[in-house]
Order: sequence, then structure tokens, then C-alpha cells
Amino acid sequence: MQQNIHDAFENATKQIRQACDLYEGCRLDQNKYEVIAQPRRIIEVAIPVRMDSGNMKVFTGYRSQHNDARGPFKGGIRFHQDVNKSEVKALSMWMTFKCAVIDIPLGGGKWGIIVNPKELSEWELERLSRGYVRELYKYIGPETDVPAPDVNTTPQIMAWMMDEYSRLVGKYSPGSFTGKPLSSGGSKGRGQATAQGGVYVLQKILELRGEEINGKTICLQGAWNAGLTMAELMVDLWATVIGISDSRGGIYNEKWLDVVKLSELKKNKKSVTDYDDADKLWEKEVLEKKCDILIPAALENQITEDNAADIQAGIILELANGPITPEADKILETNKIDVIPDILANAGGVMVSYFEGVQNDMNFYWEEDEVQDKLLKKITEAAAAVHETKQEYKTSYRSWAYIVAMKRIFDAMKDRGEV
Ligand code: GLU
Repeated sequence: MQQNIHDAFENATKQIRQACDLYEGCRLDQNKYEVIAQPRRIIEVAIPVRMDSGNMKVFTGYRSQHNDARGPFKGGIRFHQDVNKSEVKALSMWMTFKCAVIDIPLGGGKWGIIVNPKELSEWELERLSRGYVRELYKYIGPETDVPAPDVNTTPQIMAWMMDEYSRLVGKYSPGSFTGKPLSSGGSKGRGQATAQGGVYVLQKILELRGEEINGKTICLQGAWNAGLTMAELMVDLWATVIGISDSRGGIYNEKWLDVVKLSELKKNKKSVTDYDDADKLWEKEVLEKKCDILIPAALENQITEDNAADIQAGIILELANGPITPEADKILETNKIDVIPDILANAGGVMVSYFEGVQNDMNFYWEEDEVQDKLLKKITEAAAAVHETKQEYKTSYRSWAYIVAMKRIFDAMKDRGEV
């Protein structure tokens, strides 16, 4: 494998290694570590797509299936020009731990295609989405592997994929994909679930620390679905958003930013940098601004050993997957900046995906209140368990989230006779 200190797969294995060294159930039996340190299967596909010009273009895609001891592989599909095999492997590993820490009966998987979807027309995007399913449908399904949205993939894309899968297997199979539109077997509450789950986790952890969201200042990196929804939910709870960025740059105003105006800008396909009353920043500079809570909600490897010492926030809530490298984690720990890790902080998305699959199986759909109540209950239980263990053993939230998850994964593997 290519040596790169910010290689996502290496970061994921380092995190698991660290947790394994702390948890005697793993430390004393290295076979267990060996079994979870690799995905079970990685499939690489070449997807030929007829472009609007009439020419064919071949896209590369991956599916990594990490572990299914607790249930079918589960995880999103990423469409991004920087997708690579190592990243998809890492993301699938994080999914296994994410599903286990919130205690839903699913394993970990991930899809990725190397493509900048902004360069495709709507028809090309549909043909690519359907082509991807044709290459991979034999390896997925409601009982084997259930994909969902991730960076740059939408409910519409999930509907096309579910339709293609249903045609290929010859029966309506809404449970084959989650994050679908309501018209095609989606769940109420799935669209905002990642951000909503992040809010519930943050609220619970602050409450256990004797603090509250009201009055806190917030900086966000990323203003796509999860980041922007998070900003809106934070304002509803009387926090003040003072910094935000998107792929074109960032803005900061130490007093406040008007999130309603920011949402308008994004809905009109503009950048947060088109907002008037704020200092303009480079995209990553927002991470280093003074605020109470910093929320990275973009891609991985954003806080590294190069900028970790410059972080001024009190708490970091990882709404993105893998935004902090293990080297940066150490610096943040020394500087007493608590990190609420991705596998807990952004698990609301997959939690409601799980609820969506349950509703698809029953062919009976819940009201929004019911989805919210279930999300709140399960994710705050997970947050409380991680917080309490951290208090007892005085290490990072990340290590304890991994240990809580690891124990559940190993129990399933042991009971099934795998280890
Ligand atoms: N892409 C999301 C994640 O990384 C959601 C996955 C899902 O719903 O299966 O957690």
C-alpha cells in the first residue's frame, strides 16, 4: 500500500489498534485484532456509462465489506473525484464500529465511485448510478449489504439504485437501499438524521458535563446537507454560529452569522463566501477559529499534526467521518480538547437508515415523532455509555466508543464461532 501519513485506512487501523491495546478482551487475544483489522471483501468495478455526447466513459467504483458479524454490511455510497480504495476500506471499518456503538444489528460497508458528480448531467448521473448497481447487485441486498447516501449522493440516487436492483432481482425491494425519498419507501426524519443525531449526542454529553448548548458559539467546516442542517438545529437551541466554510472558502464573524441567510445562499447554489457581513477565510482556516464547539462536517484528514495545535475550540464534534488523524488526536488530548468521535457523533444517519429498513420489512411506516423518539432514546443511551466509561477510565471519548463497540462485535463473532 502507498505510504502516506494521512492514509485513511492506516488511520482507521491505528484507532482500532489503540482501542485494542486498552481493552483486555482484545489485547490478550491478538487473533481478534487480526480479524477486524481488514475488510472481508473489496470489490473493484469498471462501470461503462454512455455520456450525453454519445461517447462511452468508464468509471471506477469500489465496495468494501468490512464485517457482518452483527448483521448485514451497511454504509453509504460516496461520489467524489478523490475516492480511493484505502478511503473506502477505512469508511467501511468505521461503519462496523458505528453500528455497534449505537447497538443496531448491522455490520460495516462502504461504496465509492471516482467521479465529480457536478460534471455530469442528470441523465449521466442516473446511468452511472444504475450501471454501478448492475455491476454489484449480486453482492448486495436487504439481507446481505444495504447501501445508503454519503458525500454527494442523494435520495434521488438511492431511488434509481433501488429501482435498478428491484428490476434485476425481479421484485420490489425497498430494503435494498436506505435514504430513499418518501415516495419510494424512505423514512420520515432520514434527511436530517445525521445532524439530528449529532445534536442529541452533543446535548447528552454537555448535560452530563453540567453544560448546555444554549449560549455556545459554533464553527462548522462543511455546509452540505449535514453541516447546514446542524447549523439550523444549533440555532433552534440558542447556540450562535460564528464560523462556517464550504468547498469555496470560509467566513467568520465573532458576534454571529445569520443561518437563515446562509441556508438561502446554499439553496440558491451559492457559496457561504457570498455572505456579506463576515471576514473571509480559506476553507480550512475556520477550523482554527476561536469557538466553544467545532464541528468538522466535510471530509476526512482535516485536522492533522499540522494544524491540531492551532485549534482553539473547547469540544470537537466529528460530524464527518475521519476528520481527525490519530497524530492530531494526541495533540488535542494533550491540549485538553475533547473530541466526540464520528462513530458516535454522526451515527444518527445510519440509525434512521436502520429504522427505514425495519419499516420496509414491515411495509408499515412511522410518523416523524416516532422516528425522532426512537433516535433520541437509542443515541443518547450510546452517548451516556461512552461518557460514563470515559469518566471512569480517563481516556478519550474515541477510545471508549471503540471499546464499547469492539466488545459487542467480538461477542457476536465469538457466539457465531468466528473467533
Ligand atoms: N453515509 C452515512 C454514514 O457514513 C450513512 C450510512 C447509512 O445510512 O447506511 O454513516
